[in-house]
Amino acid sequence: MRATQWMGKKHIEVNEVPDPQILNDRDAIVKVTSTAICGSDLHLYDGFIPTMRSGDILGHEFMGEVVEVGRGVGNLRVGDRVVVPFPIACGSCNSCRQGLFSVCENSNPNARIAEKVMGHSPCGIFGYSHMMGGYPGGQAEYARVPFADVGPLVVDDDLTDEQLLFLTDVFPTGYMGADNCDISPGDVVAVWGAGAVGQFAVASAKLLGAERVVAIDRFDYRLDKAREAGATDVLNYEDVDVLDALQELTAGRGPDAAIDCVGMEAHHPSTAIHAYDRAKQAAMLETERPHALREAILAVKNGGTVSIVGVYGGLMDKFPIGSLMNRSLTVKTGQAHVQRYLKPLYERIRNGEIDPSFVVSHTLPLEQAPQAYRMFRDKEDRSNKVVLKP
Ligand SMILES: [Zn+2]
Ligand SMILES: [Zn+2]
Repeated sequence: MRATQWMGKKHIEVNEVPDPQILNDRDAIVKVTSTAICGSDLHLYDGFIPTMRSGDILGHEFMGEVVEVGRGVGNLRVGDRVVVPFPIACGSCNSCRQGLFSVCENSNPNARIAEKVMGHSPCGIFGYSHMMGGYPGGQAEYARVPFADVGPLVVDDDLTDEQLLFLTDVFPTGYMGADNCDISPGDVVAVWGAGAVGQFAVASAKLLGAERVVAIDRFDYRLDKAREAGATDVLNYEDVDVLDALQELTAGRGPDAAIDCVGMEAHHPSTAIHAYDRAKQAAMLETERPHALREAILAVKNGGTVSIVGVYGGLMDKFPIGSLMNRSLTVKTGQAHVQRYLKPLYERIRNGEIDPSFVVSHTLPLEQAPQAYRMFRDKEDRSNKVVLKP
């Protein structure tokens, strides 16, 4: 089959690789009909996630048709149309039973590597380094789906791939970011990062009853999308001081909740702290450039919530623990527990409460993955979310 392979930093190729096979009774093979490039794939592209190997197949956002099932998969049939959650989860361990699917205790065969970095291991993830299980991803013609009796959701034919594909990650991730804010009517929620996850966080905060939602980014076309998703206010941080602007919008109190949808590669080129982070990151002395998170912590009101769904890899410097502790802030975070949100969010799409296809800016053949990664990384041609068709 044809598959998108990570060949090294900033080097993607589409090549011929062996077809995936059923390895365990609970596996299924899915023929991929649509797959997307994620902002977090760019951390792989840029070489910031350790334990990638040349030839690894990328992609954790994919959907398609079941073409083969193992003997232990009773809920899927050949021909079913499915969306596949990016976290691989067994469904029966202690974490899965609590609905914490992205910290499944059974799905990362390389847990030992992750334990060295993080203390304990999260779940395995498709196409996201050997530390996260070394599973081949779904930016390919076919993918093997482990624990297929737990993860994939069978979906109806009357909705398009573009309406359903984002159930695999960015919609539930944005939704969890908002859900973790315990939003009450009247709340003001500020969202750092207006990429697809940020756009879904904005839409979800509105769905969950926020009165004002402020989107923060440096690209006006992404802020326009955030407005389309329901943002009442937008801030371009190249034009305004974000902390001052948020103070002004909230009578000096600060937003009730802050959602970080940026993660480890925040930009803030004009500041000394950005130069500091870049230098430390380049020297491998910290893994993150966490400007957005620092700002989110400082911005939120006393007693407010900071919800982190942007991806971080390891260790950061200059964490404002004094602000966090003295001001009674709550931090909630995690890779999205997609399996928990899949059905309820599918129902919201079915009911017409949201049409996730608004995020798609480009649909390209899989063969153009190398160009698509470059375009998406460099934010060329107003690229917002790129769908690849095998
Ligand atoms: Zn993703
Ligand atoms: Zn589990």
